Formats: sequence, C-alpha cells, structure tokens
Amino acid sequence: MTTGQTVKGTDIRRLDQMKASRYFGCNTFNERTMRECLPREVFKALRASLRRGEPLAPETAQGVAQAMMAWALEHGATHFTHWFLPMTGATAEKHDAFIGWDEPGVVIEKFSGAQLIQGEPDASSFPSGGLRATFEARGYTVWDATSPAFLMENPLGTTLCIPTAFVGYHGEALDNKLPLLRSMEAVGKAALHALGHFERKATAVIPQCGPEQEYFLVDLELARQRPDLTFANRTLQGARPPKGQELEDHYFGSIKERVLGFMQEVELACFKLGIPAKTRHNEVAPNQFELAPIYEPANLASDHNQLLMEILKGVGERHGLAVLLHEKPFAGINGSGKHVNWSMATDEGHNLLDPGRTPAENLQFLYFLGAVLKAIHRHGGLLRAAIAFAGNDHRLGANEAPPAIMSVYLGTQLSAILDAIERGDVAEATEKQLLDLRLGSLPALEKDATDRNRTSPFAFTGNKFEFRAVGSSQAIAFPLTVINAAVAEALDAMNVRMDEEMAAGKPTRAAAMAVIREAVTATRAIRFEGNGYAEAWAQEAERRGLPHARDTVAALRIWEEPASQEVFARAGILTREELEARVHIRHEQYQKAIAIEAQVLREMAETLLLPAVMDDLAARADALAKLAAAGVPAPESLRAALATQARLAGVAQDRLAALKEAMVAADAREDLHARTEAFGGPVRHAQELLRDVLDQLEKDCAASRWPIPVYRELLAPL
Ligand code: ADP
Ligand code: MG
Repeated sequence: MTTGQTVKGTDIRRLDQMKASRYFGCNTFNERTMRECLPREVFKALRASLRRGEPLAPETAQGVAQAMMAWALEHGATHFTHWFLPMTGATAEKHDAFIGWDEPGVVIEKFSGAQLIQGEPDASSFPSGGLRATFEARGYTVWDATSPAFLMENPLGTTLCIPTAFVGYHGEALDNKLPLLRSMEAVGKAALHALGHFERKATAVIPQCGPEQEYFLVDLELARQRPDLTFANRTLQGARPPKGQELEDHYFGSIKERVLGFMQEVELACFKLGIPAKTRHNEVAPNQFELAPIYEPANLASDHNQLLMEILKGVGERHGLAVLLHEKPFAGINGSGKHVNWSMATDEGHNLLDPGRTPAENLQFLYFLGAVLKAIHRHGGLLRAAIAFAGNDHRLGANEAPPAIMSVYLGTQLSAILDAIERGDVAEATEKQLLDLRLGSLPALEKDATDRNRTSPFAFTGNKFEFRAVGSSQAIAFPLTVINAAVAEALDAMNVRMDEEMAAGKPTRAAAMAVIREAVTATRAIRFEGNGYAEAWAQEAERRGLPHARDTVAALRIWEEPASQEVFARAGILTREELEARVHIRHEQYQKAIAIEAQVLREMAETLLLPAVMDDLAARADALAKLAAAGVPAPESLRAALATQARLAGVAQDRLAALKEAMVAADAREDLHARTEAFGGPVRHAQELLRDVLDQLEKDCAASRWPIPVYRELLAPL
C-alpha cells in the first residue's frame, strides 16, 4: 500500500494488516450496526416495516435518523446526501452539511427523520424521457432501506450516502432502482408460489447476482494527452501496435506491482463499504483486468457495482492510472464486458438453480430451469435490447464477445436430459427414471464438465446463469430487471399450468413433469450448444426465427414491441409511460454518444493530427529539396512515398469534410428514430472512414511529430 493517508483516524496501512473480516462493512450502517446503535423499539419497528415492505412511522424514521447521524459524525462525516441511480446509468448525489440553527447565530449538528426518508433534489436536469413533462416537474428521492447507508471517504472529508429510489410526483420511476426492486418482488413471488409444489420450504425468494467487472488501465499522464480518451472514453484513432494480445501472455499472468497496489487499495475501499470483492486477475488483452465479487441479492449487487465503478476511477487517479470501463477502448484488441451471473435463492440461502442431490430436488430444479428457458425464449430480443447502446455495438457480434443473437447454453449433460424429457422418456418422473438419467448425481457431473462454451451470451454454469453480453460500463440494474421480469412471467404461466394439471387429478410429480416437458419442448429454438461466433449460427438462428438485432438502432425497436410492454406492465414493474421514457432516453443517449465521438474526432483530425501530417510532409519535402540543391537527386522511392502520404492527407481532408456534413445532416433530423438512424448510420460510417485513413497516416508520420500517445505507448506494460 503506497498511500499513507489517514482514513477514519486509522492509518490505511494498519487497516490493511487487519483481517478483512474485522473491518468488512465498517463504513456501512448495516443491520449489525443498527442493532447496536438503535433503541430496541426503533430497531424492531424498522425491521418489521422492512419485512412487510411498508413505509416507516415518523417516530421510527426520527429515531433511525438520530442514530445514523451520531454514527456518521463519530466516523468523521460532515455531510449527508441521498444517493440514487438516475436513468443516465451513473450515480447522483447532492450534499448537505449536517448543520442547522439551534438559535439565531448558533449552529448545531442537525438531521431529521424527514430528511432521511425523503429528499427533493433539483431534478430538472436528469433525463426523464418526457415523464416529468407529462406528470409534474418535481422528483423525489425516497430512502431504500434494503440497501445500507454508507460513508464515502475522500482525503478531504467524509459524506454519509443514503441509498434512495428516485420517483416523480405520482410515484413514477425516474431511476434504475425502483424497477429493479419491483422486478425482484415479482420474480420472488412467482418463485415462492412454484416452491409450494415441492418439498423445499421458504418464506421468500430473492434473485442473486455476481457481476464480473472487466476494465483497462492506462497511465493517466498518457491518457490525458488524448482528447478521445478524455471525452469519449475510447480511442477514436490509433494504428495497431506491434504487439497486441497475440502472444496470449497477459491472461492470468502475474500481476505487476503498480497494478497490484492499485487493486489492493480498491479492495480495501470495497471491503469497508461491504462490497465483497473476491477475485482479481489479468484479463486477455494487454493492461486489461477483472474484479469479481461474491454474489448477493440483485439490488445490492447493482448498488455495489455502481460504487465499484466509482471506486475504480477514484483510486486509479490517486495511483496515476486512468481506468477505462468502455466496451472497446482499443480497436483490434479485446473489449471489456460485465458477466452478470444470476440465480434465485430462498431466504435461507438455498439456490433454486442448484441441480441438487436427490431426484426430487432435481425435479424442482428442472421446473426453474424450464422457466428460465421460457423467459429467454420469449424475451431474448428484449434482453438484447437491454444491453444495446453505442459502446456495446463495438463488442457484440465481433469475434470475441457473445453474438448479438440471444441463445442459451446448457452443456451436453443437461441438454441430453432435456432431450429425453422432450422425447417422453421421462413421463412420470419416478425415482427410478430420474436415476436412470443420472439426475440423482447431477451436481458433481455438472461441476466437472469441461465443455464450457465461451461463445454463448447466456450460459448455464453449474448453478447459475451467466449473462455475458452486458457492457463493462453499463449499469446492471436494467439487464437484471429484464431477466427478473421475464422469469416472473414464465413462472406465473407455468404455475397456472401446474394448478390445472393438479386440479385434473395428476400427482405432483407427474404434473410437474408435464409442465416441464411443455416448457422444454416449446423453447427448443433458444437452446444452442455450438460456436456462437460462426457465421453458420447467424443463418441457423434466422431459420429458427430468433431475433437478430445487429446494432443499437435495430435493438431499440424491440423495446416498442407489445410483448416487451406486456412483460413489464403485467407485474407492475414499468408502466407503458415509464417504459416509453426509457426508450426515449436510450435513443437520446445513443445519439449523444455518437455525436460526441464525431465531434472529438473532427477536432482531433483538424487541430492535431492533420497539422502534424502537414508538418511531416513539409519536413520531408524540404529534405528532398535540400538533397536536390546539394546535387543529390532524390531517389524515386522517396518521392513516391511522399506522394502517397500527400495523397492520403488529401483523402483525410475529404473524409473530414464528409464527416462534418453527415453530422450537420443528422443534427437536422427531428424524428427520434430518424435521428438515431442518421447518427448510427452515416455519421458512424463517416467517422470510421476518417479513422481508417488517419491510422494509415500515423504509420507514415515521424514519431517525433505525431502529437498524441500511440497504442504502443498506451498499451505498454505498466
Ligand atoms: P465461473 O468460474 O464459472 O465464472 P465463479 O465461481 O468464478 O464462476 O463465479 C463467477 C461469478 O459468479 C462471481 O462473481 C460469483 O459471485 C458469481 N456467482 C457464483 N455463484 C452464483 C450464484 N448462485 N448466483 C449468482 N452469481 C453467482
Ligand atoms: Mg465467469
């Protein structure tokens, strides 16, 4: 640990030497702290209203607020803020000092129950997708007591952050959190109902998530010299480096000291905030890394991933490192994603996607597996749409990331079992039949299975599904909301069928097997075990009728399909208006992302790169003239090289003009879809053409004259 800064009165180095379990979560006002700090009655009232999902009584809120403030002050906090997840995908906060007048001129520390449970940030500048215009201009933040309040430390001071949901005057969701919470409730209820048919008992079912986060590190000094990295989070120009990832020597390689120091400080910050950062390693591309946490309830995983992204950037700056979370910071080199691992567990921690040890448990497992298959079969398109944005377009469907076609990978063993069920080899699900199929010993076999398929966007990995197509910079809340909503719908439908079968007199096992068989048979098209990168799969998927939205422009249309609106509306997760608002924001964000990139590239080309090329040309021409003046006729090859460079510079100038024209034309479009198409089509295309020729010019230009750090420098080992 290189920083010797003081944290909460404790030298960071001393904390580092303590066992993590001793300080894990020390900066959160978690249940244990509340139990210690709150008066008994207040704690009981809080827990009861949390369990029932009811609002807090004012006295309870007041009691919690006083204890929370005392705790925060004791830990050096000076300010508090409601912390929320607006639809930008980032986090938002507005700080208030813990001060108020006691009597005129006399300040004391103040914080009230009302301030804890509700705030009214000036919300007019957050994207609302037109929601506030149609309702009311106000927006409120409302305490989300399911996620503990935490202390955000900064070398200059500490702030108490209170996780909140952000809602409009009529309760319409203006953020990413409220829909996630609603979707968790919907799938939890449906799963609980389903469990009623099996032996396993539970009082609640909670979706779980462990998001693996990939990122790049670049020396901060170098990154700051690149306008593209500064403003667009990725390089918009750059010729391939002499050494990329072809040697495959970075993956799982030993972690360099400078990087390890950074990672250790990140983990320390995570542990203090109760973020269970578990695994760290080098990724495939040079200077690419990954952090994976232990899984936890989906809403916590989402809050924690947002915090993690902030921590990575903040700690990176202190270590002189720029943390790139973009999906494709460097052309020609692997991009970054976020593998969102998802499962469902009972309140006692029993994983419903665990195949289990006995045939009876396996039947229950197959029921939930069938529901996930149904969910992805019906809403694979929506799942694709949930991860569609400008950054992810560079990754999906390329030869490294999952394809843009959603399919489910199960592995040979599970596939064989489902095939047998489909054929009717397992009709009644007797103990013997299940054992014949080796269902009784599924977990051991599945764990050892080596047929992992890295090309599948949605893969079963032993006891969870891994959604691999989420972008590395993306908020995971919405993808999680879609999975939860789709599985809730599927489970509800299966539960209805199950009730029908049982009402018709079938015993539970036979009824369950009939419903599972229906689900498996109906969803065959979504199962794919082969190579997702192959062109043959795109054709095969088309034959199967699976949606294939190649880019954001195409994917955004899926949001507007009736099935998409229905899956959210039926469970009260998003009303039609709330969904429309999100579609609108997605369009705007996409247009803005491309407009910014085009603008930055234009400026780089016009004010940095082309002037450098002209200087280079002039210097070379000068050298040739001087040679001639000295009576040494310049060799033809040198003159030809100069001519080529001059010609390319001319091409660049033309393409620059074309880019500007495309930008003006796109900007003139008013219709939402037409505008998105103009930015995603002609502007992006013009940008790529300009980049191509600039990359060629970079290779010809004298290194001393090229004005920005090149890939070789950006990707040099740290
Ligand atoms: P793999 O090697 O298959 O990727 P790991 O055990 O390394 O699996 O886990 C990868 C990620 O998946 C981790 O973030 C982990 O917390 C998460 N994960 C593991 N089990 C579950 C589960 N039951 N539900 C959700 N996420 C899980
Ligand atoms: Mg993984």
